[in-house]
Amino acid sequence: MKTKILLKEADMPTHWYNVVADMPNPPAPILAPDGSPISPDALTAIFPEAIIEQEVSAERWIPIPEEVREVLRLWRPTPLYRADRLEKVLKTPAKIYFKNEAVSPAGSHKPNTAVAQAYYNKLQGIKRLATETGAGQWGCSLALAGQLFDLEVRVYMVRVSYDQKPYRRSMMQTWGAEVFPSPTDMTRSGRHILEQHPDSPGSLGIAISEAVEEAAGRTDTNYALGSVLNHVLLHQTIIGEEAKKQLEWVGDYPDMVFAPCGGGSNFGGIAFPFFADKATGRRVDLVAVEPTSCPTLTKGVYAYDFGDTEGLTPLTKMYTLGHDFMPPGIHAGGLRYHGDSALVSQLYDEGLVSAIAIPQLETFEAGVLFAKTQGIIPAPESCHAIAATIREARRCAETGEAKTLLFNLSGHGHFDMSAFDRYLKGELEDFDYPQEAIHQSLAHLPKVG
Ligand SMILES: *Cc1c(COP(=O)(O)O)cnc(C)c1O
Repeated sequence: MKTKILLKEADMPTHWYNVVADMPNPPAPILAPDGSPISPDALTAIFPEAIIEQEVSAERWIPIPEEVREVLRLWRPTPLYRADRLEKVLKTPAKIYFKNEAVSPAGSHKPNTAVAQAYYNKLQGIKRLATETGAGQWGCSLALAGQLFDLEVRVYMVRVSYDQKPYRRSMMQTWGAEVFPSPTDMTRSGRHILEQHPDSPGSLGIAISEAVEEAAGRTDTNYALGSVLNHVLLHQTIIGEEAKKQLEWVGDYPDMVFAPCGGGSNFGGIAFPFFADKATGRRVDLVAVEPTSCPTLTKGVYAYDFGDTEGLTPLTKMYTLGHDFMPPGIHAGGLRYHGDSALVSQLYDEGLVSAIAIPQLETFEAGVLFAKTQGIIPAPESCHAIAATIREARRCAETGEAKTLLFNLSGHGHFDMSAFDRYLKGELEDFDYPQEAIHQSLAHLPKVG
């Protein structure tokens, strides 16, 4: 049995896979903020043309430019592992595999799309990128990519994270980015929030408003989003394509694929290439795993909503908890977003992918067991996929089923040790986001149609 299944650089995929080509129904259209139809041109104020084309493309395969592949080769292909030490401790007949996206310089899957986005912006003659970051993973990834393609990067970092994760800020600055705690007084959106809530801890939705406002107001500046949008999920499909090849080499195929789900990018990234097989009748369960404190798919509604708090973005039809949802300060910062990818949402609504929500303590318990058996300390976000995989592996131990399970280790937790610290000291709590608060937020959904 192999512990690590490694691809050669020459085996790195040459094309991204576009799930739209295999979806039973075309994606629901994007609408302008006032609910009217939007043309892709309306997006040119903040995105380069190549990205807009990808956002609305129905082509099954989209070539990865050689300039992008060259940068991705700094850490790709990433290893696929057989987690047999974890299997032994769980006494499960299930086989557990995981794809290790923690080996990128920024420590997660996010550079896969950051590199592509920086490249297309450079090609278009753009000089600066503005973006938001929650836990800091996306800001780091775009700072890195901007540096490699000689673009300036400005990051609006959610204030609580800015205060709690000083080393994420230093990483971004090391890669040459400017970082500001959001809400700032530099944008109208930020000032509007500060007038109402001078001590606002910030949120991803607010930081997006600030970054979009800046990009829309300057011709030399574009916006880059780290998740949710179709082109982001497209760029992440390199994960699942590699994993398929790696499993094929050891003669295996997953019964179930698990990934943590914030905006849906690493889930789409690992799951969509398997969806291509599912669309032709092959049995494979694709499971998005979210926190009970931010249960977008499992407790939200499928409706048109804004991507940001101030209502500056176009409207997409997605599972949402409402754009003014204020998530509690849980530690899986990358999963604290009110909405979800439109593609993941539609497939979930059609029953073609599934979702579960797991409480915080169970995710840390799983993460610590993983660290003790496999060695790698996972990001709190990734702990969600590990916990779901462990649940299934334990179920297999009871039933005797020898299922093949695959999960995405979306990142390492080296900058999240204060969260592990609190878990180990017994200071962390479970938090189910109250139904009442969800109802309140959903009452503010834009009226469409
Ligand atoms: C951002 C992030 C996530 C969640 O974002 P998705 O777009 O849902 O993938 C998960 N894991 C890690 C390590 C992250 O940085």
